[in-house]
Amino acid sequence: MPQELQLQVLPEVAATADLLTQYVANHVKCSTQDIKHITILKRSIDARQRSVKINLKVDVFYADEDVVHRKIDFPEYKNVKDAPRVIVVGAGPAGYFAALQLIELGVKPIVVERGKDVRGRRRDLKAINRDHIVHPDSNYCFGEGGAGTYSDGKLYTRSKKRGDVNRILELLVAFGATQDILVEAHPHIGTNKLPKIMQDMREKIIEFGGEVLFETRVVDFVIKGNEIHGVVVNEGDVIEAKKVILATGHSARDIYELLDRKQVLIEAKPFALGVRAEHPQALIDKIQYSCDYRGEFLPPAPYSIVKQVNGRGMYSFCMCPGGVIAPCATAPGEVVTNGWSPSKRDQPTANSGIVVELRLEDFKPFEKHGALAGMEFQKAIEQRAFLLAGETQRVPAQRMVDFSQSKVSTSIPKTSYVPGTTSTELGEVFPGFLTQIMREGFQEFGKSMKGYFTNEAILHAPESRTSSPVRIPREDYTLVHPQIKGLYPCGEGAGYAGGIVSAAIDGEKCAIMCVESMQ
Ligand code: FAD
Repeated sequence: MPQELQLQVLPEVAATADLLTQYVANHVKCSTQDIKHITILKRSIDARQRSVKINLKVDVFYADEDVVHRKIDFPEYKNVKDAPRVIVVGAGPAGYFAALQLIELGVKPIVVERGKDVRGRRRDLKAINRDHIVHPDSNYCFGEGGAGTYSDGKLYTRSKKRGDVNRILELLVAFGATQDILVEAHPHIGTNKLPKIMQDMREKIIEFGGEVLFETRVVDFVIKGNEIHGVVVNEGDVIEAKKVILATGHSARDIYELLDRKQVLIEAKPFALGVRAEHPQALIDKIQYSCDYRGEFLPPAPYSIVKQVNGRGMYSFCMCPGGVIAPCATAPGEVVTNGWSPSKRDQPTANSGIVVELRLEDFKPFEKHGALAGMEFQKAIEQRAFLLAGETQRVPAQRMVDFSQSKVSTSIPKTSYVPGTTSTELGEVFPGFLTQIMREGFQEFGKSMKGYFTNEAILHAPESRTSSPVRIPREDYTLVHPQIKGLYPCGEGAGYAGGIVSAAIDGEKCAIMCVESMQ
């Protein structure tokens, strides 16, 4: 049996095998020759002290022991070519994990996705960045892998209650992610690696008899009585099935409108909205690691901050160290920001959504839209930002201190947001109460993170797709819509997930309940 140890070491020790072996040998008082192998089980950064340390949990194998390497394999998938079928709408993490779970349980998934496969999608992302053209079915939110494909690929979820996070991480490893994601306290994959993982998932679904249909947008549901019988796609083709997992993500406004029109129960849901702030990464490193230079052994520093301002939570969201701000609109006539980073997080800037929690009463000016009031509130801000910045994919931007002092910035430096920025008083983008909270909030942030409140930071507006503005209700245990038999609202778009891992967990859960109801 290996010996399990908890250690706290300097970053260079954690990153260098020889130094770590020497450290462990000193720690257990043996010679380095006595140590055959060290497996790192868990790794986290402790930046609370002046000198940053790395916490490690390790297994030490001594000379007379066999080294056991962790082997991660696929679950046992069944051939489902001729099995009963379930339609999965959406090829995001919720949809793909649902499809794989169905296959594991012997049921055939037919995945219906409005966007293109990862390769085809890339061309449309170029068109947004370079030509300011937003394809309404193929963009940073729509297409194979969903909103998570061209993201930072952070794999942690705030809520541990949601389910088996490790199972999702292990599946991602089986599909090609590095085993590091099982070790790091805050694992992430990176935009350069996610597309291949999504493609391999699709290939596995097809290999075992499932189907994945791209450029196939659901435009209607076939509902007879109170039961679903299938979906209508594109120009009117019908795909039949008595079970539909609806995992269309938080940006599928047409799906919310369709459900509303058909009087299928949906509810307005609070979400959060604000800006995306970009700082030089070196400045964030300096603040977080209390040092002038991060050095070669520490990763670009992340940050996470929350403050109560005027009774509301204002917090960092989807922070991307060494990342890039992405144009995430899903329709022409609007602008939306979010962030991604490559696996090495080696870009010179750090960006994060900085958002304020909204309440249902904030949507009052849009109350005539009923359950869609929050969505209309969100849309209005995105469209106003589009108009203010010049009716392209440029976004309104302002320096942080200037924003707090209601001063239009005289110059905005080039930022990582490729389509570009237009210097704008951001107070014009948001309702007054939101502007006020953010103006005060940034100053509060600066008190906790010395150096954060600076004109070197550029705010881009808006960060508006933080979570779904609508909930599609479902019964607690069966996960079926309370009115429509066979319809399983799933993932972030239905209001049951907030991120890649929780969406994947929810996909699996819906698949399990769906199969249970078929027995
Ligand atoms: P989605 O991923 O949104 O997938 C829904 C799918 O349904 C889409 O592919 C869409 O095209 C399809 N669809 C929609 N309507 C229809 C229709 N009518 N017919 C057919 N198909 C349809 N989360 C993290 O955990 N970590 C991160 O680092 C992270 N970074 C992000 C960066 C960016 C740029 C973005 C945009 C998001 C990021 N997120 C991140 C959020 C994360 O991507 C989502 O939480 C997650 O993808 C939600 O999964 P989902 O399957 O529920 O929905």
